[in-house]
Amino acid sequence: MTTQLAGHCHCGAIRVILEPGKPTAELPLRACQCSFCRTRGALTTSDPAAHLFVEAAPGSINRYRFGLRVTDFLLCEECGTYVAAVSETEAGLIGVLNVRGTGLHGFEGREPDPMIYDDETADQRLARRQHRWMPVSVVEVQPSI
Ligand SMILES: [Zn+2]
Repeated sequence: MTTQLAGHCHCGAIRVILEPGKPTAELPLRACQCSFCRTRGALTTSDPAAHLFVEAAPGSINRYRFGLRVTDFLLCEECGTYVAAVSETEAGLIGVLNVRGTGLHGFEGREPDPMIYDDETADQRLARRQHRWMPVSVVEVQPSI
């Protein structure tokens, strides 16, 4: 039995709900070593059996792309929090959640796995993500926190 995990950006305009699909302790915790993630102290999780729901107040999502430009980094327009990263695939939208940015509980005290993806091509990147990332639903709605 797993319970939903909920968090939100600093200002609360974007709320996230993770249906983990397995106990939180078994979900990965990753520290991507790219400059974007390092400078934000991002710690992310994802699992193909999980599902991430992002509830965002209308107009509150700022999408940022860099590097290979195959990923949308979802930032809060209001407070600047890096909430999640998503990619559109043939199987639908998949992504990772920034556990630290959204204050998700259940990961405290864990040592993250450092990840370095610098040498990947766009194709390699999408292939890896299809095995590791999770389905994501983004809805524009005023979050009720
Ligand atoms: Zn915010």
